[in-house]
Amino acid sequence: MTQQTANDAGPFFWQNCSALELKNSQQILRNVLKTYRKELVGIFYDHFMQHKIGKKYLSHAVVNERLKYSLMEWLTDLFEFDPNQDMEKFNARQISIGKIHARLGVPNILVLEGASLLKTKTALRISESNIGIEQATHSLILLDEIVDHAMRQMSEAYVTGIQQRAQSDEAFRIVTLGQDINLVRETQRAALMDWAQSTVFTLFSGKANQHYQSLAASPFGLWIRHRAPIMFRPEYLLNDIGKLIDAIDEDIVPNILNSDFQDKNDMFIAINELQKKVDELKFVLSDLFQKATDYESGRDPLTRTMNRRFLPSVLQREITLSQQNSSPLSLLMLDIDHFKRINDKYGHQAGDAVLVKIADLLTEAIRGTDYLFRYGGEEFLIVLPETDITNGIKIAKRICNMVEQTSIVLPDQSIEHVTVSIGVAIYDGHPDYEYLLSGADSALYAAKEKGRNAVVAQAGAELNSLSVQE
Ligand code: GH3
Ligand code: MG
Ligand code: MG
Repeated sequence: MTQQTANDAGPFFWQNCSALELKNSQQILRNVLKTYRKELVGIFYDHFMQHKIGKKYLSHAVVNERLKYSLMEWLTDLFEFDPNQDMEKFNARQISIGKIHARLGVPNILVLEGASLLKTKTALRISESNIGIEQATHSLILLDEIVDHAMRQMSEAYVTGIQQRAQSDEAFRIVTLGQDINLVRETQRAALMDWAQSTVFTLFSGKANQHYQSLAASPFGLWIRHRAPIMFRPEYLLNDIGKLIDAIDEDIVPNILNSDFQDKNDMFIAINELQKKVDELKFVLSDLFQKATDYESGRDPLTRTMNRRFLPSVLQREITLSQQNSSPLSLLMLDIDHFKRINDKYGHQAGDAVLVKIADLLTEAIRGTDYLFRYGGEEFLIVLPETDITNGIKIAKRICNMVEQTSIVLPDQSIEHVTVSIGVAIYDGHPDYEYLLSGADSALYAAKEKGRNAVVAQAGAELNSLSVQE
């Protein structure tokens, strides 16, 4: 922001008021700070202390002392600030604070709430003083403007800082994932099995108390704590794994260590219990890797079409391109008609085979630059860049005909036919892709209402569709 002067009339009070009004208002704020400095710092501090994450930061003595000092400095800065003189320096300080908050992961909401409380407390103190209503109002407006201005600068820098951090975390995750995911899976399965084998051997050799290594401290446990969260993001399956490791280290193994196993049978039961938990662990681990592989590739495991993970990115990108190049963009939402009938008649596996066949057919029917997503159970979404509504409808009709004429061989060798209903939407300049999706969805609903095996264009786009041959 460039430096403002009092003569630059603008929407803010500080730009409009006379130099004397500004000076008086600043003086009132300075007086409040002088008298209530400690109380004002305390408001921020107490607010942090009441918050789970804020409290965590303050638990470190250095941060604690440093924060009080920084808060005092920041408040002085706020109350001394002359918007007509010191704008750039002031902004730079707020930006640097925002960056520090992002680096430390201090929740922005805490800071915003603290600022709000600060305004309230200062306003109350001003209202208790003996100054006239006009002066009081002016100083409150100035306070409001300055605090909000500081918060805007700080929040902007905070958001940028958080984004950079997320990008760098993502880059690190990709590098970590670059290690062949199948190899990592095999290595970690082997590490878990190694631990299980040597533990069973140690526990029953009578030297357990000297040699036993907990699962959490084993190479597998270390990997789970340090590497897995990078590869798999916060994943609920990782929590399950953590709980299983705790159960083994804190319950099952201590039980074995405390038993003298007079009865051999008890020993087998104990080994069995340990084995069962390790098997459970192996199962969750496979599941974790499976989910990660599908998620990473952005593909639906059954149909190999794209899953919804990248749909927002694709739509946002195509909307921007369409806007920039004034090129049309169409969307087809497709749903298999009476699909439940296939499942009910032939079983779920036959249903899966139909889904795979339809997905293959759709892949064949579109261009290399189009996108095919599995949108839901038996719903697909096709994004057609550089395609106007007339061509969108043509393509949809061609797909409808192709599907209808295709004989699908089911796993039991019986032959079935299915039909699809398709809703067509066209990008009309609305920047939110959800709007485009809901246009296609309503059109699909209308196609179902029309009796299925039908194509309907989004309302408003229908005029253009008249040129399409039925
Ligand atoms: P409509 O013409 O109104 O679309 O009828 P429908 O039977 O196709 O629609 P409905 O929504 O009633 O049923 C969809 C069925 O699709 C229900 C669900 O069990 C099945 N389904 C969803 N995902 C899969 C899948 O991955 N495999 C199989 N076999 N079936 C699935
Ligand atoms: Mg259906
Ligand atoms: Mg459906």
